[in-house]
Amino acid sequence: MRELVLMPFLAAALCAQTDQIRVIAFGAHPDDCDIRASGTAALFAKMGHAVRFVSVTNGDAGHQTMKGVELARRRLGEAKESARRLGIDYQVLDNHDGELLPTLEVRKQIIRQIREWKADVVLAPRPNDYHPDHRYTGVLVQDAAYMVVVPAVTPDVPALRKNPVFLYYEDNFQRPNPFRPDIAVDISDVIDRKIDALDSHVSQFYEWLPWVDGRLNEVPKDPAERKAWLKRNRTRQPGPAARASLVKWYGAERGNAAKYYEAFEICEYGTQPDEARIRQLFPMLGAGPGQ
Ligand SMILES: [Zn+2]
Repeated sequence: MRELVLMPFLAAALCAQTDQIRVIAFGAHPDDCDIRASGTAALFAKMGHAVRFVSVTNGDAGHQTMKGVELARRRLGEAKESARRLGIDYQVLDNHDGELLPTLEVRKQIIRQIREWKADVVLAPRPNDYHPDHRYTGVLVQDAAYMVVVPAVTPDVPALRKNPVFLYYEDNFQRPNPFRPDIAVDISDVIDRKIDALDSHVSQFYEWLPWVDGRLNEVPKDPAERKAWLKRNRTRQPGPAARASLVKWYGAERGNAAKYYEAFEICEYGTQPDEARIRQLFPMLGAGPGQ
């Protein structure tokens, strides 16, 4: 009897499993994915899809008073807390912060991560950035973009039969070419979830980053005020290109109303999605204007 009652739920769960979209996002440090994609991740998670964030370094250098194993351990705890708040998975690879290089060894780590997660979508930084760790994370993911389907490479994890769609996060760098917002996700409904995720990284947003910017005295002590401060300082309003992309994906009404967003550029490597495929992979975009 009990089994009979459970059957419809099991069927629904199995069905959801088949349609589940699997997203993996790479960042150099345990806060980078959160900055660029935690709103989108929260939306995927809410819809029952699977998201993993991967920090390619353990974050053991970027702090004014802590370093080494003690700092790496703290950063791991903050990443796990962010994952808990977002409803996603978070992995931190044990490579040193500030010393990342695009080696074969790290490339293999990335290939394994993408394969094990059976990713449909891979998110990564563009390979132009002020920080060498960010830059090489971009290069490493590009270097893995074809190898994930080659069975003889890293044969301990089965190769993917279908190459994922690779996307870049938004950045402000203009050379050799500015970021192009091919996809813009309206994250206004989950902006507080994003701030909650950032708020998990206490050692980053309330200690290291304000210290390095000479603004440590601006950080409020009160937990609620700190979050409000984070929201004022760590969110961006859509510029003209992002606004046009929001209107394309959501139609004029919602696209023009969207207050907070995250945008992604399609990488030329990996599977090239058409508009219909992008709407399948990003179901929060909906069916499109007028449909
Ligand atoms: Zn970083």
